[in-house]
Amino acid sequence: MSRQQELIGNYEAAKKECNNDDVLLLAVSKLKPADDIKILYDHGIRHFGENYVQELVEKSEILPKDIKWHFIGGLQTNKCKDLAKVPNIAVVETIDSLKKARKLNEARGNYNPDQPPITCNIQINTSNEDQKSGLKDEQEIFKLVEFFLDSNTKYITLNGLMTIGSWDTSHNDDPGLENKDFSKLVEWKTTIDKRFGTHLKLSMGMTSDFKQAIRQGSSEVRVGTMIFGARPTKS
Ligand SMILES: *Cc1c(COP(=O)(O)O)cnc(C)c1O
Repeated sequence: MSRQQELIGNYEAAKKECNNDDVLLLAVSKLKPADDIKILYDHGIRHFGENYVQELVEKSEILPKDIKWHFIGGLQTNKCKDLAKVPNIAVVETIDSLKKARKLNEARGNYNPDQPPITCNIQINTSNEDQKSGLKDEQEIFKLVEFFLDSNTKYITLNGLMTIGSWDTSHNDDPGLENKDFSKLVEWKTTIDKRFGTHLKLSMGMTSDFKQAIRQGSSEVRVGTMIFGARPTKS
């Protein structure tokens, strides 16, 4: 089988398992070559997810400009500028502090004021694991939402909430079982929507747990391994 047949077959299989045309299937292409992305691009796919700023920047320079890049990796304040410079960065999914939101807004205004605002997700740590990023504190979350809703924040907009489920819950042997990390994210959406009148979307679910995430109301699933195969380790 050619790489083309393989990638398209995998993507279509994942799409079929989503079983819902309203759910965005984000193809997570981190550590995979630009050629793989181009194959799916030619098949009509436009949304791709990357975890490393430098890799995203390099791929964005050589790949078509109507790709909608999603940054889904751990965000550092000093990298917000590099992301904002990418004209077709569409979504930054891992905003977890006011400082980073401020920086991203400011940098987008400086470098790409005429491009569409970057839509952002607030990352929530629903599993309480220390090694995971994301916010847990209600006051911090509310302050960040308020910052987005402020009319001075012109270059970024709030799209929704994002979480990474804990490994244990996502590798549960019982596929129909409710994932408590996803339930937590749904609760946060309900709380915030009620308080601020928003209609937040939910980015939750990866290769091992996206079907369950969709059952629990996900609007976007981020799938890498099922589409591209196992990844090399980052050097
Ligand atoms: C790598 C990654 C994914 C994709 O993971 P797979 O298990 O390969 O589908 C999804 N979300 C985030 C945040 C990631 O870092």
